[in-house]
Amino acid sequence: SDHQLVYPPSPDQMDWSSLYPDYVVEEAKDNEMAGLDATPERAPMTTKPKRLSKEVEVADIGCGFGGLLVGLAPTMPDTLILGLEIRVSVTEFVEDRIKALRAKHHEAKLYRNVGVLRANTMKFLPNFFRKGQLTKIFICFPDPHFKARKHKQRIVSTTLNSEYAYVMRPGGIVYTITDVPDLHEWMVQHFEAHPSFERISEGEQEADPCVEIMRTETEESKKVERHKGQKLVALFRRLEDPAW
Ligand code: SAM
Repeated sequence: SDHQLVYPPSPDQMDWSSLYPDYVVEEAKDNEMAGLDATPERAPMTTKPKRLSKEVEVADIGCGFGGLLVGLAPTMPDTLILGLEIRVSVTEFVEDRIKALRAKHHEAKLYRNVGVLRANTMKFLPNFFRKGQLTKIFICFPDPHFKARKHKQRIVSTTLNSEYAYVMRPGGIVYTITDVPDLHEWMVQHFEAHPSFERISEGEQEADPCVEIMRTETEESKKVERHKGQKLVALFRRLEDPAW
């Protein structure tokens, strides 16, 4: 349950260095001056975190076994991509998968821009990302929670959409895909009703190369393919905040 989840009190206290070691900026002097030493008693996140040369810009909410991360990574090699997953064993699987891919593609320096984190995205998103940090959020085949009394567990809701809006940069895109028509309509309704988002036209949607990756590379998309199910896609643009 959530009390076992580790999360930073605020984004600037998050230490990303173990996820993206190739992007760590050496700052030994700064740490000495701040008088901080990483004593073992201290939780890693209470010491000054190592800084990266880049920030995470793309998040895959409920990444499952990581197919989307692996599909996206080589197409945007200069962008840090993060999968968020609540299940421990699945998160570990993705960690191992990334490790193996980095080793295999060592020469080409591929997959260094992709990482995975165990997190409950329904609770701690603003702990990890500062306002306006993300340019893309993917929500691929989220759990449908069919029954009405379970709808509050859906990963798209008025409240959660405000959190997505908060962590997203204006102009950023939320990508959604599902094989469940009722959930598709639910996601469209909730994003269209939200003042920070507008739906993206089908033309623009189909021209976006991420859409094809989302349709074919996630584990769930492959399962739906085998069952000849439908894949319902909707994209939403994060709008500028209105002037005060
Ligand atoms: N996106 C993947 C795909 O398309 O293959 C996985 C889809 S799977 C049906 C939904 C995933 O979301 C599961 O791996 C589940 O553990 C994860 N999940 C559900 N609720 C979550 C939450 N609150 N925070 C993070 N992950 C969550």
